[in-house]
Amino acid sequence: MSKFIFITGGVVSGLGKGITAASMAMLIKAQGYTVDMVKFDPYFNVDSLYLSPYQHGEVFVTEDGGEGDLVIGHYERFLDQNLSENSNITSGKIYSAVIQREREGAYGGESVQVVPHITGEIIRTLKRLDKPETDVVVCEIGGVVGDIENHPYLEAIRQCKVALGKGNSVYVHVTYVPVIEMSGEHKTKPTQNSVKELQNIGILPDIIVCRSDYALDEAAIKKLSLFCNVDCKSIIESVTTDNLYRIPLRLHAQNFEGVALTKLKMEVREPKLDAWREMCERAESAANSDKRINIALVGKYVEKATAYQSLMDALKTAGLLKNIAIDIALVSAESVAENPSVLDGYAGIVIAPGFGVRGFDGKIAAAKYAREKDVPCLLIGLGAQAGLVEFARDVCGMADADSQEFNTDTPYSVVRSVEPPMLKKGAFPTMITPGTYLSKIYGEQTVSERHRHRYDFSDTYEQLFLKNGLVFSAHSPTGVPEAYEIPTNKFFIGTIFSPEYHSRLLNTNPIFSEFIKVIC
Ligand code: GLN
Repeated sequence: MSKFIFITGGVVSGLGKGITAASMAMLIKAQGYTVDMVKFDPYFNVDSLYLSPYQHGEVFVTEDGGEGDLVIGHYERFLDQNLSENSNITSGKIYSAVIQREREGAYGGESVQVVPHITGEIIRTLKRLDKPETDVVVCEIGGVVGDIENHPYLEAIRQCKVALGKGNSVYVHVTYVPVIEMSGEHKTKPTQNSVKELQNIGILPDIIVCRSDYALDEAAIKKLSLFCNVDCKSIIESVTTDNLYRIPLRLHAQNFEGVALTKLKMEVREPKLDAWREMCERAESAANSDKRINIALVGKYVEKATAYQSLMDALKTAGLLKNIAIDIALVSAESVAENPSVLDGYAGIVIAPGFGVRGFDGKIAAAKYAREKDVPCLLIGLGAQAGLVEFARDVCGMADADSQEFNTDTPYSVVRSVEPPMLKKGAFPTMITPGTYLSKIYGEQTVSERHRHRYDFSDTYEQLFLKNGLVFSAHSPTGVPEAYEIPTNKFFIGTIFSPEYHSRLLNTNPIFSEFIKVIC
């Protein structure tokens, strides 16, 4: 039977509850236990399919094609473990399941209500994660205690404590402890109130994680302990840092996971954190180093960096391996369309994936700029489609070549619908063409990468492209081209799949490592 750790948030949102949850899971895994993670999101979108990256940042895709919040990417990278579509459950999914069961007559004439039916569905979803092979499930409840929307989840996890039995669940509450600048004093009242609100629901937190901009003083810890019924050792501080990787180490130094494991009646072991520690130190020395390179990330969500979270993490961790800081500038594709010289001075260019026509012309212009000036360039998804359209138009003389996504009348649809038409999501095998740059990068003939696209590169013009100097370097098992390269350029690689989803903190995807290596 799996044990459960529930992570709730209080006072304000945006405290890094997801990183706290991921840290807990990572630290427990580092002690040799098996872990799984789930995030419950209290919004009604069934998944992230129609969710704007402006709202929740990037859509993260799991191995099995699940579409989740960007925090699922953090979970996977912290844990170095594949999660699944069951790792991100929204109210949309829960309510849909209940309504479908009601339509099937499963409730035998009862009125269907939030309690017990919605809460029952939440518990059923949690039970699916209870597996003999999983020691601990870390479950994050999205939102803040007091929100109307997350109330059913809190009610469900309250019920779980009894259902799971004594010593099988732990509640961690992540709150904010502000400091009044004038007096330098920590204010514990918002946390006290938030804990009171949790207690009203019937949840007594076992551990309180206090996010603050300054280290907590003894008096604040004692006060919190007294008013929140939590012993001082279970009050953990998490002081603001700009190095995300430092957070689990700081939490571990306060015995964060040890307190939880003790409450779960599990043996506390010495976690293996050497590799993590080393990476963390590299990140810190890179941040202060003058060995830096600047990369332009051409996309359309430039106001929202989290829209490209996995991509940026993949680039940065590739830099860490070379002890180099990567400064990423988000460059609006529209600005490149207007004036490509905005790309002057960057050591490398990444042309981002995306949906919708906005920015497509700018991505085409960026590809042209990188190809002609031989600036190392990595093109992904829509970025790679733009690069192929540009090559067809400007090198192969196929004027008006286009993607069928935006122009169904084009005489040359170099990008055409996936067959049969669908959104291709999740991990699929791709065969690398021997002798190509890509085969040197991967060192393997068949690799698996994650996809999320409706359009593919067309194979109709494969020979024409080859004659003009562009090689398709990977194909699906049915022969659809999935990656290309221009061998005469230093690095000009386009992939229909998104290698960033497979890039881990301690195990960078080789495409990113090579891209950075070429630039250095
Ligand atoms: N919008 C494009 C498609 O659906 C590209 C998606 C992507 O960037 N992964 O094919």
